[in-house]
Amino acid sequence: MAEKFIFTPTKIDQLKQQYDVIIIGSGGAGLTSAIQAYELGLSPVILEKMDKIGGNTTRASSGMNAAETFVQLNHKIVDSFQDFYDETYIGGGKKNNTELLKFFTEHGALAIDWLDQHGIKLDDLTITGGMKTERTHRPSSLAPIGGYLVTELLKQVAKDEIPLFDNIKVTDLVIEKGKITGVKALADEEIEIKADAVILATGGFGAGKDLIAKYRSDLLKLKTTNQPGATGDGLKLAEKVGAKLVDMDQIQVHPTVQQDTDHAFLIGEAVRGEGAILVNNSGERFVNELDTRKKVTQAIDDLGGTGAYLIFDTDIRKRVKAIEFYDHIGLVKTGQSIAELAQKIDVDAQTLHMTIEHWNFSVDKQNDSEFNRTTGMERKIIDGPFYAIHIAPAVHYTMGGVAINHETQVLNKDGKVIKGLFAAGEVAGGLHGNNRIGGNSIAETVVFGRQAGQQVYKYLKQE
Ligand code: ADP
Repeated sequence: MAEKFIFTPTKIDQLKQQYDVIIIGSGGAGLTSAIQAYELGLSPVILEKMDKIGGNTTRASSGMNAAETFVQLNHKIVDSFQDFYDETYIGGGKKNNTELLKFFTEHGALAIDWLDQHGIKLDDLTITGGMKTERTHRPSSLAPIGGYLVTELLKQVAKDEIPLFDNIKVTDLVIEKGKITGVKALADEEIEIKADAVILATGGFGAGKDLIAKYRSDLLKLKTTNQPGATGDGLKLAEKVGAKLVDMDQIQVHPTVQQDTDHAFLIGEAVRGEGAILVNNSGERFVNELDTRKKVTQAIDDLGGTGAYLIFDTDIRKRVKAIEFYDHIGLVKTGQSIAELAQKIDVDAQTLHMTIEHWNFSVDKQNDSEFNRTTGMERKIIDGPFYAIHIAPAVHYTMGGVAINHETQVLNKDGKVIKGLFAAGEVAGGLHGNNRIGGNSIAETVVFGRQAGQQVYKYLKQE
């Protein structure tokens, strides 16, 4: 087996006073833009406030969407930029920024090529809700994409000797005569670093209670799937220098998140897609489990704060690799029989039995007369042992953010470019409209991360 790669952040005494470009954040967008800028001959630095590298990117599980890729052709899938565009646009309630969406859908294939050239192989395909064809690229090991991508990008950062400092929190952007000239930051002490360009790659505000209170106080009671550093710093930094923020009230809540431990673990849609049902604490179904995230969330909320249980059998479990992980960390309850499972989750055994029997009958008939579910009905729940995961909705992704153009330049309230300021990844708003499709967030970090690295190069050449 290959030796486990452990990344060592740069020692603080190596920090210089000036770089060509400062990149704030070490998630997918930050790492990609740094590598791209370096390969164009610039000297970048990455500043990360946490002692953990990789941001929310490390938590991503599904994959990276892209159309017209060589990987798709290897799988004999003929796709088109237009279909990718149309399906994302419909998924986003036709609220997406079309300039960003066009660039995004037309550059995913190049991003897949670029990753491939760096030894980052996403040669397996899957599909996510809202997409009509297999365009979600993932490693053939079926490992969750986030950890794989961050590790592989960090290998490149180490190889290129790009400085990456952790525990440095950027607190201000410095702007002189209308141009960015550097940042102020907190390490052990206050510091100032100079650069003619800054890339905001600070992620979203899914863990930022103050911003959620400001824009969506109805969601304050929810937990979040986000890492604790996802507090929307980039939005505040940008706003202080006059940037426009867009779509700030568009926050995605994910309906099925296990949250009985300190961490909140997202239980992917695939579990329902492969056949799991949801039951309330009386052991009864209460919703079409594969309705939109919004509707399933509402139905769980209507249960009055109890959450719900995902119920599935061994056959379904085998089809979702991540369940092994959920079980390993203690999130899955097991019963050799339905009665034993009912006892473990404290619901009435007779009712749970009836619910599952009724559901199996609906699968046989391919007709869910109770809730009109039409997908994820390929297999019944009959093959013991049986399993349950307790879930409830949680804040997952913030679609809003800093206004940018397709060149990742940050825009002010008049729609004018703020010179020297760029943004990529979840910190930028507009691409996803009112709902982000699974697989589009990782794609966004690589497509717009590369673009930011390139546009900074162009900007600095002109200076
Ligand atoms: P994306 O998916 O857009 O790349 P991530 O959430 O993966 O975003 O990564 C963003 C990173 O930026 C996180 O690791 C986060 O801790 C870091 N970050 C956020 N605010 C700051 C800040 N003020 N200074 C330095 N790093 C920051």
